[in-house]
Amino acid sequence: MFPDHIIFMKHLDRHNFNQELEKKVKKVINDHGLINDHDKVAVALSGGKDSVLTLHILNKIRKESDFNFKLLAIAVDEGIHGYREDGIRSARNNSYKLGVDLYEVSLKNELGFTLDQVAKFYQTACVPCGVFRRYLLNRTAYELGVDKLATGHNLDDEVQSFLMSFARADVRRFGKFGPKQERIHPKMVPRIKPLWLIPEKEVGLWAVSNEVDVHLAECPYAYQSLRSRLKNYLNSLEEERPGTKLNFLKFFQKNLKIGKRDVKLYECQICGQPSSASTCKVCEMSEHIKQEMKLNKEDRENK
Ligand code: SF4
Repeated sequence: MFPDHIIFMKHLDRHNFNQELEKKVKKVINDHGLINDHDKVAVALSGGKDSVLTLHILNKIRKESDFNFKLLAIAVDEGIHGYREDGIRSARNNSYKLGVDLYEVSLKNELGFTLDQVAKFYQTACVPCGVFRRYLLNRTAYELGVDKLATGHNLDDEVQSFLMSFARADVRRFGKFGPKQERIHPKMVPRIKPLWLIPEKEVGLWAVSNEVDVHLAECPYAYQSLRSRLKNYLNSLEEERPGTKLNFLKFFQKNLKIGKRDVKLYECQICGQPSSASTCKVCEMSEHIKQEMKLNKEDRENK
């Protein structure tokens, strides 16, 4: 699956590689104060290589260093048939193996529909997917008393997200960059990104060389996303000019107030969750979906 990585690995001691990776993660944690003593940290665990590495590495740091924090994992099943089941299986296997408690939530149980059922109402499935997943992760983490929600965002993801915000002229999102978010609402669990300095290639190399059970398949909706196109573009740039992605990240770091969000949050008048408007995106979209489903049903009955 990663032929160039595997060839590279023949010349590299796996143990040293793992140690280098861990060193980089520790540096981000220390430099940016990602975790405090006695924190309860939840990993948003999809079963993909990034979130699985986040779980393994935080578990190792927790056991071997002076850091004293609790670790658990949360998995969201969006309802993507033929894809998400494998991710959930890998999330269960890895949590079980490491002895970390895993909490599972699904769109179907919490909101009454799967992503497959509602994807057709949007230009790209990634829009409802992102909104509902973030909502369920935050709500579950808040209900579990979590202090920090660790995501598997790596260096590539961060650069892609930044360029996506540029492409959409969405400057409000700039405040979401950086390895740590401040708490901007009592019900909003701050997010941390321990893999912030790790290129995606290295995450893949870690998973393959250590034979970790990760879900490597691509989501069937990924081709619809702007992220996927930017990812291909950045990979070809990196191929031609190695170091480009890191240069992007350094530029953002120097020129933006990362991790600082000037956004005021309220509580949604329907569900009570944090929201930048009187009704949150989730309640707004759920209402739209209900209407669309009703219309679809009527259409079918009238045929
Ligand atoms: Fe969701 Fe889009 Fe990612 Fe698939 S590619 S899991 S639809 S955000």
